[in-house]
Amino acid sequence: MTTPSANRAIQRAYTQVRTPTGQILLTDLTKTKLGAVQNRFFRLFVPVKRSRLRLPTGLPEFSGMRHLATLSDSPVLAAARLGGHWSDHNLAAICHVAACNLRCPYCYVEFRHLSAQDSFRTTAADLVGAFVALRRERQEAGEQVSILRISGGEPLLVPEFVADVHDELRRHDLAEICLLKVESNMTAFAYALESAPAGTTARLHSIGGLAVHVTIHPTPDDADWPRVLMGLRRALELGIDVYPAIGGAGWSDAHLSDLYAALAELAPDLPLRLAVRPFNLSYDALTTRRGLDHYAVPAGPSPSMRWEQLTTAKRGRRYLQCPRHLVSLGDPAKGAAS
Ligand code: SF4
Repeated sequence: MTTPSANRAIQRAYTQVRTPTGQILLTDLTKTKLGAVQNRFFRLFVPVKRSRLRLPTGLPEFSGMRHLATLSDSPVLAAARLGGHWSDHNLAAICHVAACNLRCPYCYVEFRHLSAQDSFRTTAADLVGAFVALRRERQEAGEQVSILRISGGEPLLVPEFVADVHDELRRHDLAEICLLKVESNMTAFAYALESAPAGTTARLHSIGGLAVHVTIHPTPDDADWPRVLMGLRRALELGIDVYPAIGGAGWSDAHLSDLYAALAELAPDLPLRLAVRPFNLSYDALTTRRGLDHYAVPAGPSPSMRWEQLTTAKRGRRYLQCPRHLVSLGDPAKGAAS
């Protein structure tokens, strides 16, 4: 069924990532060129890395670099939720849902891995079983893996799978010591919620603060823009802990202004959570892509400085003045308008 929240690409990707028997498809990471692949489920990733300038710039010790660094604050959120210092949570296990409805030119995933090629069927129980085994292995090697990140592809094509993974983490007594983090483009979420098995919306709501990092790819004049806003609205209604980001290059001042107004309408302080993270165009998957010039960071002031002009003018706040998880989204129980 076609609904206003869907287009053909969303419907196709929605179908590609699930089987009639309730399994979902993940990319077999051993068949990719991605780094630090551990097995078909997971690759490892160090979120905060000084040498790559991926830093939690909302922290005082890094705040002087907020316009130079690419914000990477999952470990800070993990520490706030789970206890300890952010450096205790600086290792993530990442799995990839096997399809996406978009084809961003700068996507570091090979396009064939966005349409379920090189994928395998699995369940949340199998995924979390593999996570438990990986944690044990790394623990024996003296490392702690405390972030399980569902990436892709587009994870919110399968919101029921996200709820299943959270249930499995609970079953293994991991929900209080590990952070489940989801990455999304948010364009397919409204449709997936309408189409997913009954009860999915309530299950996501009951998680209470699922962490979702949302990269907003369409600009406000793009056909997918209303879908992003619809997805964000639904996410906020469900109490999802939303962390928006844009690449910044290719966004005009008018785009940024429209983005500010749209985010502020969804939740007054949501613009203060926005990260401007220029895309890394050096990945292997990008060597044969066209049209990347448009997304290279232009000479001159960093794109985040243009965002700071808006936050300063409208709220008297600097860009990423404080850690994003400390910026309130209002009371989820009252909905996004609170
Ligand atoms: S939304 Fe994300 S996964 Fe999908 S094509 Fe764009 S960058 Fe890649």
